[in-house]
Amino acid sequence: MIGYYKADPWSIIEEGFDPSMHEASESIFSLGNGRMGQRANFEEQYSGDTLQGSYLAGIYYPDKTRVGWWKNGYPEYFAKVLNAPNWTGIDVEIGGEALDLHVIKPVEFRRELNMKQGYLERTFAIYKGEHRLEIAVRRFLSMKRDEIAAIRYAIRSVDYSGPVSFTPYLDGNVVNQDSNYDEKFWDMEVSKAVPGSAYLMARTRKTGFVSCMAMGHLVELNGAILEIPQEVIQTEDKVANRITLDLGQGEEVILYKYVSVLNSMNYKPEEMVISGVKVLAGAIAAGFDGLFKEHARAWEEKWAHSDIVIEGDTSAQQGIRFNIFQLNQTYTGTDERLNIGPKGFTGEKYGGSTYWDTEAYMIPFYLSTAGQEVSRNLLVYRYKHLEKAIENAEKLGFSGGAALYPMVTMNGEECHNEWEITFEEIHRNGAIAYAIYNYIRYTGDKDYLVEYGLEVLLGISRFWRQRITWSEEKQKYVMLGVTGPNEYENNVNNNWYTNKMASWTLSYTMEALDYVKKTNDSAYKDLLGKTEYDPEEEESAWRDIVEKLHFPFEEKSGVFLQQDGFMDKEQRMAADLDPAERPINQHWSWDRILRSCFIKQADVLQGIFVFEDEYDRTTMERNFDFYEPRTVHESSLSPCVHSILAARLGRSEKAYEMYLRTSRLDLDDYNNEVHEGLHITSMGGTWMSVVYGFGGMSIKEGLLSFEPALPENWEALSFKILYRERVLQIRIERGKVNIENLEGEGVDLYLMDSKMHLEKAGSLIADI
Ligand code: BGC
Repeated sequence: MIGYYKADPWSIIEEGFDPSMHEASESIFSLGNGRMGQRANFEEQYSGDTLQGSYLAGIYYPDKTRVGWWKNGYPEYFAKVLNAPNWTGIDVEIGGEALDLHVIKPVEFRRELNMKQGYLERTFAIYKGEHRLEIAVRRFLSMKRDEIAAIRYAIRSVDYSGPVSFTPYLDGNVVNQDSNYDEKFWDMEVSKAVPGSAYLMARTRKTGFVSCMAMGHLVELNGAILEIPQEVIQTEDKVANRITLDLGQGEEVILYKYVSVLNSMNYKPEEMVISGVKVLAGAIAAGFDGLFKEHARAWEEKWAHSDIVIEGDTSAQQGIRFNIFQLNQTYTGTDERLNIGPKGFTGEKYGGSTYWDTEAYMIPFYLSTAGQEVSRNLLVYRYKHLEKAIENAEKLGFSGGAALYPMVTMNGEECHNEWEITFEEIHRNGAIAYAIYNYIRYTGDKDYLVEYGLEVLLGISRFWRQRITWSEEKQKYVMLGVTGPNEYENNVNNNWYTNKMASWTLSYTMEALDYVKKTNDSAYKDLLGKTEYDPEEEESAWRDIVEKLHFPFEEKSGVFLQQDGFMDKEQRMAADLDPAERPINQHWSWDRILRSCFIKQADVLQGIFVFEDEYDRTTMERNFDFYEPRTVHESSLSPCVHSILAARLGRSEKAYEMYLRTSRLDLDDYNNEVHEGLHITSMGGTWMSVVYGFGGMSIKEGLLSFEPALPENWEALSFKILYRERVLQIRIERGKVNIENLEGEGVDLYLMDSKMHLEKAGSLIADI
């Protein structure tokens, strides 16, 4: 569907209504504000295919596990962020007939997601017989007041006269399409409708989360508020008001619907109705325009730090802004209990739960574009789950404080239930450890180790020690039966990436322990007591593993081998695959995939990317040239890493090809699945592919370093980086890079491989 949405630097635009694209567009035009999110379902009823989706951050349901063959160690449930009661609904009738765009074909249909100001607007016209009406609907989820959403629904009659009615409602009768047993997840608590407003309070079964939505509305006719009798509708799980009026030729009626959405993560259930009504009253008093103004200002502030400007390539520009927009509206970093699901608030797949994606792909974005507390909160989230990670490891037979973080989680408990991933895809532990290091390296916040980080590192290191075993035959330590990032291989021995992560974690944990011991002896002693850590015994075991861990290596090609025995496979190239058989995961049996050499996503290359300062260019090149041609990029997390490495190696065409694939993955629907939701976590990877890839940013010997390389068709690239209370502006043009220190003290950095000092308020220029 390349080219379905119009190229525009600041907006995503759909012109013309194609019902077969509706579910895809519902994902693309999703809105969120960190606290809640909403697919672009139409307000009025729609009888065509639609995936209704309204999600509240952190509100989940433990959907009972469904598997064919139960294995000990499987979790009991899969936590799912629920489809919450529908707050967007406004049924519309014109001349006594329901407005349903599946039945009444709209003309001049246009949808716009305005990313600069964060709103969704839909305009279209319909004909009632010969008579024309024009409809314009705008909605936003306030970035300023994250419990508020507002909709303006305007109907202008060109030459129609007759009755028009609106029925704004709140509806608790919602289900998740992906529920395992077709269960209902919500029980209604209390609800009430009076003329002009209503509320609906519902409680999730089992988890007992309570959500309270309150709505209020105003009707305006030709610019003046209309006092009009309203019918009150109340059923078991729905509250509504119905307003009917006669619309004359040339007249315009507007319904403003305001909604407050509160939940029991922040309020006591018994106070929620009163609070919800109060929050709503505040919003109504501010009015639609007032709310919109402050919302747009909040977006302006977000863009001021996180925007990336690409000159000379509108499609690439639109792609990167779409990614940044989605990242900012999915997670705002104000609440350490929240995290980021692979689909954010845009669909049901992956259950809204936390994956390793956060640490491996998202943290770098928030580190450089938001205050330090935002990425810190993401780390603290894992700290708070440490006990559960220890319990999780115990369930699998580990002991002594070993921690295995879950592959998928809402509350720290494992939810994933495929043995090859749940039990074997343990590299996630490494990503969590590495994120601590990465955060400290970037921010300089070493206190984080004392307060939270060290305990997590210790638990993870204890896990690695027990998971790694001694091979008499090899006279080396080995890690058996794992799944690396490449999920097209299961139960392999010595996945190079996982071994690398494990060995690195052990070394870093020892370094971190040493640092705390030297700088904060009392904290160190407290930790010894709390964790029963035995420095001598544990460290000598760790050291031995670091020294004698087996890393598979292919002598002939000189590459790190993805796992033992990889070369036994028939070596084929992805380019030789029949295009009709791609993606292979939609055409081949799983058995055939497992036996093939095709790689789903960066695996060895993921390690080379993470530890790039350990490898010289030849090593990077050799491994890239070996693995990239065997990679089918069937995970959204794949192209970004390849784009960055290709840029590092000066392969600008490949870097650009991979960049488009990551940044326009959803807009151009490369994997034919955007109707299920957007790939939110890979969007952090897209950001990295611009800033780390083309922008050439890395950390070198503890300092920021820039070695940019523009793709051929870009005239210029500019972005800002927040770095230790400084704001740096980087502008790359053909042949030249310029770094300005906009805010904060001077800083040492590397520019085109030369160490330099960037003065306070100063700038540096270099040739590239
Ligand atoms: C990828 C995993 C990822 C998950 C969620 C899978 O397709 O292989 O690495 O964690 O999607 O994004």
